[in-house]
Amino acid sequence: MSAIVLLSGGMDSSALLGFALRESREVDAVTINYGQRHAREIDSAAAIAHHFGVRHSVIDIGSLTPHLKSALTSDIEVPDGHYSEESMRITVVPNRNAIMLMCAVGVASSRGRSKVMTAVHAGDHFIYPDCRPKFIRAVSEAARLGTEGMGDVTVQAPFVEMMKSDIVALGDSLGVPWEQTWSCYKGGSIHCGRCGTCVERIEAFILAGVKDPTVYAEVEFAKEKTALA
Ligand SMILES: [Zn+2]
Repeated sequence: MSAIVLLSGGMDSSALLGFALRESREVDAVTINYGQRHAREIDSAAAIAHHFGVRHSVIDIGSLTPHLKSALTSDIEVPDGHYSEESMRITVVPNRNAIMLMCAVGVASSRGRSKVMTAVHAGDHFIYPDCRPKFIRAVSEAARLGTEGMGDVTVQAPFVEMMKSDIVALGDSLGVPWEQTWSCYKGGSIHCGRCGTCVERIEAFILAGVKDPTVYAEVEFAKEKTALA
């Protein structure tokens, strides 16, 4: 098998890269720059790819950004809180995974890679429709049909039924350098500890029982939100 891993620079996709490399060395990392507000995560993706010694390509689709309504691609304020809250819906980028996956499928077909791997996990299902198993099955079939006779590329999401804490435990066993990963949606020089993805990050390390090397502006807010206080 050979694969393209969609690498965002966050925890899940970094663990996925380690996971994919356990099966094969024929793995490339691809990062889609869709104009996320902070370039920091793209720097993290490059550092993670370097750590694992894989080819890394950054694909810029930033001209799409002004046409997508989301707090991640505009000056709409990123809300504080837990992902399970209704207010988090503004962080959804419409159809983001489909857009990124299909870009990577084209690259995979061009490079003779047999599949594209994405790190969507069970915790994403609540607010992101394009992270659900039903979507993954459909997009994989669309990818295969779209590359029929040109590699028959499929899409795989091995973490789709896993919780983030399970991914932290797995990634830790694979030697993911967590301190080089980036989750915060607000940017800044350190993780804010208050946005949905920071709260999720703090919670996942605690639940996994893995030491968290991240420097946060604060952690008490997250602990209150996740009842981990
Ligand atoms: Zn944050």
